Amino acid sequence: MAGAEKPLPRPAPESRAFWEGAKEKKLMLPCCDACGKFWFPPSQRCPHCLSSNFDWRETKGEGRIYSFVVYHRVYHPAFEADVPYVVAIVELDEGPRLITNIIDAPDRVRCDARVRVRFEEADADVVLPKFALIE
Ligand code: ZN
Repeated sequence: MAGAEKPLPRPAPESRAFWEGAKEKKLMLPCCDACGKFWFPPSQRCPHCLSSNFDWRETKGEGRIYSFVVYHRVYHPAFEADVPYVVAIVELDEGPRLITNIIDAPDRVRCDARVRVRFEEADADVVLPKFALIE
């Protein structure tokens, strides 16, 4: 299936601030006014204390690789030119974990390696937060 387009996220009301932040190269997450903790994925209540009082705050955009896999197989035709690529769980310094891509060569990626967010324009409306190793 040549010319297939990559599936892109469709922001829901709960995640709109995350995707709008990414367009401005900011990694924004919900942060609880009651207990001060961040969380992800977005929801209308803090999963730590169940408060519904929260704001969207910018994170440092840094963390460590909690776990990762290297995709060698083409599961979707639009990713054929990308294999091998890395899908990782990044644990941000603020605590939450995100499923994302590490843009470095797969043989350089290790668990616990420090990473920093890099924003990749997927199309005119969607910017994807991906991560790169901190040298
Ligand atoms: Zn809380």
